[in-house]
Order: sequence, then structure tokens, then C-alpha cells
Amino acid sequence: MASDQYKQFLTANKVVSQSSGNKDAEMVRRVGQRIANAITIYYTQQGLSAELEGYKWEYNLVDSKEVNAWCMPGGKIVVYTGLLPITQNETALAIVLGHEITHALAKHGNERMSQAMVQQLGGAALSVAVANQPAETQSVFMNAYGIGSNVGALLPFSRKQEYEADRLGLRFAAMAGYDPRESIAFWQRMKSASGGNKTPEILSTHPIDDNRIAKLQEEMPDALTYYKPQTMQKSQ
Ligand SMILES: [Zn+2]
Repeated sequence: MASDQYKQFLTANKVVSQSSGNKDAEMVRRVGQRIANAITIYYTQQGLSAELEGYKWEYNLVDSKEVNAWCMPGGKIVVYTGLLPITQNETALAIVLGHEITHALAKHGNERMSQAMVQQLGGAALSVAVANQPAETQSVFMNAYGIGSNVGALLPFSRKQEYEADRLGLRFAAMAGYDPRESIAFWQRMKSASGGNKTPEILSTHPIDDNRIAKLQEEMPDALTYYKPQTMQKSQ
């Protein structure tokens, strides 16, 4: 289902071509690949490579004012251009992608999807719902992964899911060569961005408060043990 929905999404939206030499599109792919490599190493070390079976990573930048990014199961990633003025640098983008990919890996979207299936579709089995109520199923799926404000109200991930995505996401970004300490500055920028009259889409699914920043600070010594600065890194 993720693979179909991803294709459909990319067709319906304006993808910034990676072959056009667009620096931001290249950055999205570079960060995505480095984090995917780190995750492959981490899962292999933990004896969990089977969890990554069926993952076919894809990374796309979509031209949209929406402040958002997400990862569907199977490693299908989208970053919206509207997020980039807040990430401001490659390291912060790595922090976001580490977080989003962890939601997919930890199957948080699946948990949300089954809750929503019960509420909205009376708990019908997924295959039955897809066959009989394709539009409703699609909207439940998109909501479960925090995709698009056009499909209805996005529900926040639980606090437990958010902390897990922060903790593991920091490790993955650090292993990929990105300084996890940037996460504090990034989430503070994100918090200030919510001061206006429009809350960034990403904050409706990933709520931010002071507890979150404090939690990130608590996680930092752990994350730094995974940090491998890239000495050969090309200039950004
Ligand atoms: Zn989240």
C-alpha cells in the first residue's frame, strides 16, 4: 500500500528533480542515503536486519509551502521545500529525517492506522477495507503517516512514540556523521515558527514543548557515543 500511495503522491505533487542539479534535492538524497546506511549498519549490529526486509529507500523533495517531512513504511521519504527555511542546514535536516524514519521503522504509523481503522471503518480488515472503501482507507493511511493537510485532521503521535523517534533518530543521525546537538537548536527554531497564526504541519503530528527539549538534552550523552564526524565531507 505504501508503495502505491507514494507513487500516487509523487504524481499529484511537484517533485524537485534530483538530476536537474538542484542543490536542495541533492541534499535530501545525500542525507537520506547516509541515514539509511547508518540504519542498515545499526540493525545489522543489533541482529535485526530482517526488520529492513522490503525496504527500498527513496528520497524526494517536493515543492510545497507545507512545513513537513515524512517516511512511509518501506523507506519512502518526502521532504517539502517549506521545511528547509527552518532546518537551515544539512545537519538539522538529518535530525528530522532520523526522527521520521524511526516512526516508520518502529511501526508507529501502523499502530495509528489500526486505531483509526477501528474508529473510522469499524475495525474492518485492511484488505477488505481497501477493496470496499478505497477512499476512506487511503485517507486513514495518509493520516497515520502524517501526510498532507488536505486529507483531514492530522492526529499527533503519542508522547511515547515521539520520545522513541527522538532517541533513535538522534543515534542514526549521529552515526551518519551529523552532530546530534543541532537537534536542540532545530527544535527551538521549530517552536518559534509555531508562534505565528499558522502552525507548521509537522507540529500537528509531532508536538513540541519544553519537556521535549529537556528530553533531547537528556539523550545527548547517549547520542554522542554514536557520533562519527565526517572528516572527508565535501563542503556544503
Ligand atoms: Zn514524530
